[in-house]
Amino acid sequence: MIIDLRSDTVTKPSKGMLEAMLNAKVGDDVYKEDETVNRLEKRLAELFNKPQALFFPSGTMANQTAIKLHTNPGDQIICDKYAHVFNYEGGGASFNSGVSCKLLDGDRGMFTAKQVLEAINPPDFYHSPLSALVEIENTTNKGGGACWDIDEIKKIAKVCNENNLGFHLDGARLWNALLVKNETPEDYGQLFNTISVCLSKGLGCPVGSVLIGDDELMHKAMRIRKLLGGGMRQVGYLAAAGLYALDHNMNKLEADHEKAKELESLLTELPYVNKVEPVETNIVIFELNKDVEESIFIDTLNDKNIRIISMGNNKLRMVTHMGYTARHHNAVLELLKTL
Ligand SMILES: *Cc1c(COP(=O)(O)O)cnc(C)c1O
Repeated sequence: MIIDLRSDTVTKPSKGMLEAMLNAKVGDDVYKEDETVNRLEKRLAELFNKPQALFFPSGTMANQTAIKLHTNPGDQIICDKYAHVFNYEGGGASFNSGVSCKLLDGDRGMFTAKQVLEAINPPDFYHSPLSALVEIENTTNKGGGACWDIDEIKKIAKVCNENNLGFHLDGARLWNALLVKNETPEDYGQLFNTISVCLSKGLGCPVGSVLIGDDELMHKAMRIRKLLGGGMRQVGYLAAAGLYALDHNMNKLEADHEKAKELESLLTELPYVNKVEPVETNIVIFELNKDVEESIFIDTLNDKNIRIISMGNNKLRMVTHMGYTARHHNAVLELLKTL
C-alpha cells in the first residue's frame, strides 16, 4: 500500500469516471467539433458567468496563455513571490511572453491592494517596464492552501481597473477556496478578466484545465493555445472526465479538508515539528525542528511507503486528495506518532 501525499495531482480516475470517458461523444476539437469539449467549455463559462471557456491540457499552459493575452514583450506582471507562474512554470513568463515579474512580499502568497498600487510603474516613465497584469492565486499553493479574503480581491480589481492592468486568477484550486469561504464561481467571474481552473487536482481528473474569459480575449486565446502546441483533437474523452468530476467529485473536497485539519492538529503536537502553517484547505505545510534532517525524515516516511515532498527552506508538504482514503489517513496518523 503506497500512500501518496505529494500532491492532489496523483489521483487516478475512478471506475465511474473511466466509464464516462469511454462513452464520450467526440470529434475534432481543432475544428471545434468535439461536442463533449464544447459542453464542458459551455458549462464552465456559465458557471463563472463569463462568455467563453477553453479547454487546456495543463494549468501551466492556461496560465501562460493568460499572461500572453494580457502583455507585450518587455512588460511586467505583478504577482506574489510564491506565485506558481513565477516559481513552477519553467520560466515560461519570460520564455513565452518576454515579461518580467515584480514580486510582492505577501502573507502566505496573498498581498494587498496597497502593495499592488505601490508596485505599479508610472506608465509615462519609459525607463521602467510597463506594468500590464496582476496575477493572484487562490488557493495559494506555496502559501499552504491559504484562501484570499474576497474583499481584498475586490480592492485589487479596482486598482487594476483604474490603472489599465489585466487581472488574472490562477484558480488551480479555486474549488477548495469556494468551499471554505462559501463563495460562488460567479463571485470570481465578475472580478477577473481571465480565470484558469484545474480539473486534474482535487476534482480527480487525469488531465485538464480550463481558461475562462470574455469573447475578445478568448478568441485570441485560441491562437495562443495553438502556437503553444495545445490544439488537441478527439479530446472529448478527457473533457468527459471533467464533466463527470463537476457532477460527482465537487462534494468530496470537504473530506480532504477534514483530513488535512486532522494532520495539522497532530503535527502541532509532535515534538519534532517546529511549526505548522495554518491549514485552511487540503494542503499541509510544516517545518521540522532544526536538529531533524529533512531528507532523512522524507526517506523514513518513504521506507514506510508514505510519500511527501519538500518545499525548500526546511518546509515539507502533504496534500490530501480523493485517493487518500480513511485507511491511509489512519496509517499516517499512527506512524507520525511513533517517529
Ligand atoms: C498545479 C498548479 C497549476 C497548474 O499545474 P499543471 O501541472 O500545469 O496543471 C497552476 N497553478 C497552481 C497554483 C498550481 O498549484
